[in-house]
Amino acid sequence: MSESFTPASPLLRPFSPPPRLLMGPGPITVDPRVLRAMSVQLVGQYDPAMTACMNETMALYRGVFSTANQWTFLVDGTSRAGIEAVLVSMLEPGDKVLVPVFGRFGHLLTEIAQRCGAQVHTIEKEWGEVFTPDEIEDAIKKFKPKVLAVVQGDTSTTMLQPLESLGEICQRHDVLFYSDATASIGGNEFLTDKWQLDAVSVGLQKCLCGPSGSAPVTLSDKAVATIKKRKHIEAGIRTDQHQAGQGQIIRSNYFDLGMIMDYWGEERLNHHTEATTMLYGARECARILLEEGKEQVITRHQQHGDAMAKGLSAMDLTLFGDQAHKMTNVVGVYIPQGVDGEAIRQSMLLDFGIEIGTSFGPLHGKIWRIGTMGYNARKDAVLQTLVALESVLTRAGHKLQANAGADTALNFYGQL
Ligand SMILES: *Cc1c(COP(=O)(O)O)cnc(C)c1O
Repeated sequence: MSESFTPASPLLRPFSPPPRLLMGPGPITVDPRVLRAMSVQLVGQYDPAMTACMNETMALYRGVFSTANQWTFLVDGTSRAGIEAVLVSMLEPGDKVLVPVFGRFGHLLTEIAQRCGAQVHTIEKEWGEVFTPDEIEDAIKKFKPKVLAVVQGDTSTTMLQPLESLGEICQRHDVLFYSDATASIGGNEFLTDKWQLDAVSVGLQKCLCGPSGSAPVTLSDKAVATIKKRKHIEAGIRTDQHQAGQGQIIRSNYFDLGMIMDYWGEERLNHHTEATTMLYGARECARILLEEGKEQVITRHQQHGDAMAKGLSAMDLTLFGDQAHKMTNVVGVYIPQGVDGEAIRQSMLLDFGIEIGTSFGPLHGKIWRIGTMGYNARKDAVLQTLVALESVLTRAGHKLQANAGADTALNFYGQL
């Protein structure tokens, strides 16, 4: 039976979310400047103001990615739209891909590459560890892939895979080098050109301070050449120049990066209707990051991430994983013996308005994940989280020294 929408119907009240501090592994509380940018009026698809905004956004994201790549633009959709666009556009059915898997998002890259018809080879690490460059090079020698697809920071495990020497290895073996840096970019160093990446995709909802819904990508000349070689068609229109390529057709219209580049480029060939409001938001995310300064933003994530980790340790909690390879912006912490992890998260959320993260797969029920990223990589957010967690944990019977968490974090801040 359908609702009767009388004026008094609760469904007709506007949605008004409760105030929350999002201290999980993402999404995070959006920077108010980004929300403001997203509340301004639309302009038309080919309005010079719109195309100028697109060009500015490309230039700003070259800054974010540390690249001179001309082809740096947005894919409309959440981060996995960027992943899917890169993989479906670079991989032809039967192509070989190597995915080093050290967490949930490695499995996602594997699944998406398989759906593209690629022959996917994986190597795996226990959750909480990362690969050495030699381990990856050995697998490249063994499998001879066309593409190496690797996550930089995997929020499922909090680990950061070092990428700096993989580009040179890929060059030597003539492999295209792709990374999903959604969780790490902004809060951890990421140097597209210096590290010789061919393709990178990210999202806004981690260290970039925005909501999910836009996936910035950057492509090297070699990646662009690989994509442009493929056939591009669109039923009824544009058949002339776009059937010219060799190789198999890209098996997606929406994620055909060849067509999306024609749309973002000077030709401005129509593809989808740009998600204008997300464009405004994505532009603002890059602008505020570059205004604060890339180095400064990384330092801020490092400092608040350290303050959180030290505070948690002082509360007689144990941190998860190889701390030498942890992302700056999220920490895993073991749920103490005898404590109901979900009841703690529930009380944090409903009593204190603070969200912390649960975990998946092999870590399910074992750790919480606590983020200090983007807008919430802030002293007050760290201290509020520590104080609330102490209160909730103490009520649940966990023994700790009173005020040790916040006090330790405050002492750490005092020494900076
Ligand atoms: C959080 C995260 C994503 C998110 O993907 P969505 O499609 O935006 O949900 C992707 N990749 C990694 C490595 C992440 O940590």
